[in-house]
Amino acid sequence: MIKYQLKCECGKEFESWFSSSKEFDRLEKKNLLSCICGVSKKISKQIMSPQVVGSKKETDDNQQKKIYQNVQKKLTELRQYVEKNAEYVGDNFASEVRSIHYDKKNVRNIYGKTSLEENKELIEEGIEINSIPWVDKTDS
Ligand SMILES: [Zn+2]
Repeated sequence: MIKYQLKCECGKEFESWFSSSKEFDRLEKKNLLSCICGVSKKISKQIMSPQVVGSKKETDDNQQKKIYQNVQKKLTELRQYVEKNAEYVGDNFASEVRSIHYDKKNVRNIYGKTSLEENKELIEEGIEINSIPWVDKTDS
């Protein structure tokens, strides 16, 4: 909502609310603006900074953007942590994780890629794996 200070040709000044500045322009063009004098239809917008109320959408968008950036940051940190503390085994993840789980050999933290199918199998075998969203480093 936007509040405009309007001035009628008769000299009367009053305030009116519009859903947007476009809405004001539309009403003005159609001569739908009216003053309480009921005579003149020549009503002009006073020069003033419009007060914008209820810009909830914008706030929400900003908030969402902030949340998204925050999540993105956390995921990047998570990625960096994993890269620092685990060995990348790429597509061999499923077989590597099994050899660690069953043979207890070369026990270490690893990370890599699995297909959804492999994921399901590993979970069914009782192997603890964590899936994390992998963010692109360049996407910041
Ligand atoms: Zn008037």
